[in-house]
This record gives sequence, C-alpha cells and structure tokens, in this order.
Amino acid sequence: RVLFRSEELLPEIGLVIEQGKAKKLGREALLLDLAQVKGVYVPRFYDMAVDGSVHPNRRDVPQRILRRVATPTPEHAIGLVPYIETIHDRLVLEVRRGCTRGCRFCQPGMLTRPARDVEPEAIIDTIEKGIRQTGYNEFSLLSLSCSDYLSLPAVGIEIKNRLKNENISLSLPSQRVDRFDENIANIIGGTRQSSLTFAPEAGTQRLRDVVNKGLTNEELLRGIKTAVEQGWDRIKLYFMIGLPGETDLDVVGIAETVRWLKRECRPKGKRSLQFTLTISNFTPKPHTPFQWHSVSTAEFIRKQQLLREEFRKIRGVKVNYTDVNISAMEDFVGRGDRRLAPVVRRAWELGAGMDSWWENAQKAHDAWTQAIEEAGLTWKYRQVEKGEGHIFEAADSYDAPLPWDHLDTGIDKEWLKKDLKLALEAATVPDCAFDGCSQCGICGPDFGHNIVVKAPPIPEFDGQFQPNQHRAQRIRVWFGKIGEMALISHLDLVRLFDRVVRRGALPISFTGGYHPGPRISIANALSLGITSSGEIVDFELTEVMEIETFRQILTDQLPPEIPIYKVEEVDIKSLAASRLLDQAEYLITVESEGLTSVEQWENWIEQVNESSEINYEKTTKSGKKSLINLSDRLFSLSLDSIKDDSTTVLKYKGSCRNDGTMLQPEQVVYMVQMVSQQELELLKVHRQQLILVEHD
Ligand code: SF4
Ligand code: SF4
Repeated sequence: RVLFRSEELLPEIGLVIEQGKAKKLGREALLLDLAQVKGVYVPRFYDMAVDGSVHPNRRDVPQRILRRVATPTPEHAIGLVPYIETIHDRLVLEVRRGCTRGCRFCQPGMLTRPARDVEPEAIIDTIEKGIRQTGYNEFSLLSLSCSDYLSLPAVGIEIKNRLKNENISLSLPSQRVDRFDENIANIIGGTRQSSLTFAPEAGTQRLRDVVNKGLTNEELLRGIKTAVEQGWDRIKLYFMIGLPGETDLDVVGIAETVRWLKRECRPKGKRSLQFTLTISNFTPKPHTPFQWHSVSTAEFIRKQQLLREEFRKIRGVKVNYTDVNISAMEDFVGRGDRRLAPVVRRAWELGAGMDSWWENAQKAHDAWTQAIEEAGLTWKYRQVEKGEGHIFEAADSYDAPLPWDHLDTGIDKEWLKKDLKLALEAATVPDCAFDGCSQCGICGPDFGHNIVVKAPPIPEFDGQFQPNQHRAQRIRVWFGKIGEMALISHLDLVRLFDRVVRRGALPISFTGGYHPGPRISIANALSLGITSSGEIVDFELTEVMEIETFRQILTDQLPPEIPIYKVEEVDIKSLAASRLLDQAEYLITVESEGLTSVEQWENWIEQVNESSEINYEKTTKSGKKSLINLSDRLFSLSLDSIKDDSTTVLKYKGSCRNDGTMLQPEQVVYMVQMVSQQELELLKVHRQQLILVEHD
C-alpha cells in the first residue's frame, strides 16, 4: 500500500524492487525492504490488537507509516487521448494541491495539507501546449478548492484571452460561493456555459460555523446574485444532514435558505431561479475532528422526511437525497478496522459492487448485511457507546486508540480533539494558508509548508469566443477506416476530426448560433464494426491553404488506421459531400449453411439482379412498420471471390443517400436468401467507396 501521493514514491519503489531482484531477495525480504521506504505500508508486518489498534509485529519496521506528499507537476497532465469518449474527457490540470480551509467533515482537506500552489505561468503554458498536443477543446482547472488558488482569476482570464479564437471551454469544479465574482463568471462562461455548483454544506450560519465552512449568509447571497447577473438561471447546491451538533432547525434551515435565495435572486425577465439540490448524509471519516461522531440511519430517514415536507412547498427546486442504505455501507467501511476485510470480500462474493447504482443498491445492502452477520459483527460494530447520532462524550473515549492511528498523516491527534471541542462551541479556525496557523502539526521537514503564490494582476477580459464563420475554401478528403478504427463510432470519429483540426492548428470555419461547431462534414455515418476504404469528409476553412500542406498536416495527426487517399479542393459554393452522396459500394462476406458452388452463386446473383421486386419489412425506431422494395435500391451485385466451400465474398452497389434511402448489407443478404432459400450469415462488411452525384 502506498500512503497517498505516489508520483515521487513510485520511482523509489521501483528502485528497491530492482535492487531486490538483483540481490535475488525472496518475497518476505523484498517486502521488508519496501517497508523501510517512507510512505509504503506493508500490512503483514503489523497486527491488530483487541481494541482494533494496529502495531508492528517486528522491530525492524516503522512504528507508524508516514504519509507522502508531492507538488503537482502540470506538464504530467498531458497524456494519452482516448479515441472513444470517456468520462472526464478533457485536459485536467491541478492548479493547487491541498486545502487548508479546515472544514471539519472533510477528509481530503485534512489529508492533503499543506497547500501548494502551482506557478500561474506553468498552468498557462501547459494549457497552450496541451491544446496542440491533445486537441481537447475542454479544460478543467482542478483543486480541492479551486477558489482558494488566488491566481485563478488572472490565470483563467489569461487563458481565455490567449485562446480566444479557439472554441474552447474551461470548467472549474464546485466553486466557493464567497469567491464567485465577475472574473470567475467570465472564465467559465461563454458559448458552452457549464453548470454552476456551490456547496454551502449546512442550512444555518451556526452549523456552517460548527463545520468550519467559513461562509456567511451575506457571502452566499452575494455569490448567487453575481451568478444570476452573469446569466445563470440554474444553480446546483450541496448540503449535508446528520452533522454533529445539528438540530431540526438546522435541517429545516436548508429549505429556508433556498426559499430566501429564490426570493432575493430573480433572473431578469426569466422564470425564477432553478435549484438542484443534493442532500447527502454525513458519514464521519478517519483523521478528521468528526472521527469521534457516530451517525444514525433512523435520524437520516427522519431528517430527509422533514426536508421532503418543506420542499413540497417550494417550486422550482429539484432535490436529490442520498440513499440511506448507501450511507450505512459507506459509514461501515469508512471507519472500519481489520475485521472489515473478510466482510468486504464476502460482500463482494455475494454480489456487492457498484453499490451506489440505484438499481443495485438494495441487492448490495442485502449482500453487506449477510456478510456482516456471517463475520459475527453488526452494522454498528464501531458505534460509540453513547449510541447513534452522538459525539463521544466521556473524556477517555477520545484517548482510546483508533484503528488508523498507525497511519501518520502528520496531523496531531490532540489538535483534532481540540478542533472538535471548538466545533461544538461553533467556533471557527482560520484558513492557515492566509490567516495564521492553528498548529495542526503538519508543517515541518516531513511535509513542508504551505506555498501560496502571489496572484498576478488580472488582465482585461477580451471577451468570449466569437466563431469565425468566414468560408474561404472547401477541401474534400477521401479516407479509410481500417483495422481497430472500425471500432470507433461515428460520433467518436467526428470528435477525432475536431481534435485533429485543433492539433494541426488548421483554420477551420465555424457555424454560428448558440453552439458553434467546426464545419467538418462527414459524408455518411459508417456503422460500428465496419471497415472502409472509401469515406469522404469535407472541411471548410477560413483561409485558403495549399492542398498538399493540408494533406500533410491531416496525415501527421491521424492514426495510421485512418489513411488519407485523396485530397481535393472543391468549389465552396457547391453542395457538401453529404448532400451529393448517392451510392455506396460494399464487399460483404457471407457464410452459407451447406456447401455452395460457384455456379450456384452465379445463378442466385443473376436472379437477384433480374428481380424487380424483393420486399422487406422495415421497422422504424418508433416501432412503425413499412414495406420497402429492395430491388429499387440495388444497382449491381456480383461475385467477388469464393473463400472456401461455404464462405463467399459478394460485391454490391446500392443506394446510399442521407434521406434514408440506403441499401444495408444485411438487406442484400436477405435478397440472396429470398432467391436461394439458403440460410446465410453476414460475417464481415467493408465499404469500398462512396459515390457522389455530379453536380454543376
Ligand atoms: S474547502 Fe473545505 S470541503 Fe472543500 S476541500 Fe477544503 S476543507 Fe474540504
Ligand atoms: S501547521 Fe499550521 S500552517 Fe501548517 S497546515 Fe497546520 S495549521 Fe496550517
């Protein structure tokens, strides 16, 4: 196991393994060497005591395992770009690592201290480089709390200015509402305005102070008002219920806050502000001041019900509640000790996994329940003696060893206790990156210190992207889609061309409207799994380019399995290839049930070619049925080759128009089946060419 940041640790581990192999060390000896590396935890050298705490079982390993830290390196963000669309399909750059806000429920905040800013110039340079190397049109600046990166407005505006002519969008994760201003609005605004998410966490000022959120009602109102003034009419808000010291007034306060915000912030001339709320159930996490709290599923259910009743009276608010069963599982695992291991394994054997997928949640909960029972535990096995929904109250409870005490995060346990007491008095501590140290124990030689970069001046905003719609030249490209590229869908191919244009800095023209797109038009979508050596795509450019230069750039940026066969300039005023498309020629490989001869095939092909009517029942997506005469759509069918006694390759030319008049390969197989009365199976399809009509 590696304790947290592995960028610098992995090479060290690699070195130890390499040396161990050279010395021909056995597994045990190699693990022992690895256990000496700071940040590496080898569980087999540690045993659990009766009270759940964990201690070394030999003298030559460290008593506690030290957490490792590393400074983010933006250039490492430029990595492989997948051909198929993936989640977070964008260039993500970490601008700041660590958060010292001190929200008391937040484990990442505690585990990533100290905070380290990345130099603004490094971010801007990486994005400029990244756009050319990856072709992405979306970037995300990432940090636990982006708004605490003081250079964010300057960096964001500078990036927007430098990339003003590119159709780029920049997104930021959830914002601190108190730092949301016009600059941030300009950064994330534009033609593809992303949704706006804030996390007030609690519904009353008192409870926000308990959790040390450091957000006042005035700041909340000001942030949302700014968002509305900048054109947003939908806001997402995150709240939690089940926090320590929470009363029903705090819970109802969530609804009160939303009601008040809706009243105070009305978009001009539009319907009222729409809110989407996520209400999650707080589950305490190790290494946080709230690690001594215990939650109650019954209380979660009761508080959710309270809120449901309140929100029934407020219009324009969509509220999502976290499933209480999922929170129970999260809490069970979140603060477990080593007795958890067999439970996790058994739950998985019983079908748990993907537990937060709603259709699976009950199944997962049942699996966990059975696994917990079989292990001789209960759902409440680490619950404090005070019962559910309470903080430890007996003084010695705080001193009891915890199962994670041997993992040295750098935070002083005494500080956590002190901070919890402050929480219960609703007393806040400042963010130490800006306002003074509260002595949590982190800063020092092992973990370093907070690094806060002074914010550069914010440049003047040059305005959002204005698509260049000028059309100076149309270039038509004939290309193939072979090998593994047959497994790239049409939409992924569209995205690939878009990225290729950006990587090659080609002067592409854009459409207008609310969602401007590059004028790249693929003549016809090729079904997934089909190879082709005859596809056509049109590019419209804002300035005239040498055809050979264009061809070279395109070839350099495309994978070898998208070969370019021909590039031609066509009249900008002529119709696009997608509108000129008329016919397509295919090679289809079919397998017959029995043995077939050349003569038989020639006979069937002749019959198909001479048929004037072979009807086929087509079912549309909406379920409507219609009869089409396939003979009208077939222009020629011939025998290409016989592979063996049962496998034959046919060549056909059929209609292929984007108005839906197309002859599909499986329809040709159907035609042959009709005349031959043979069962045929379509094995493989290759599109040879697309044929355009001549147009003057
Ligand atoms: S702002 Fe608070 S919740 Fe967000 S990362 Fe920092 S400590 Fe955690
Ligand atoms: S030691 Fe002080 S400055 Fe360093 S992270 Fe802790 S509270 Fe902040």
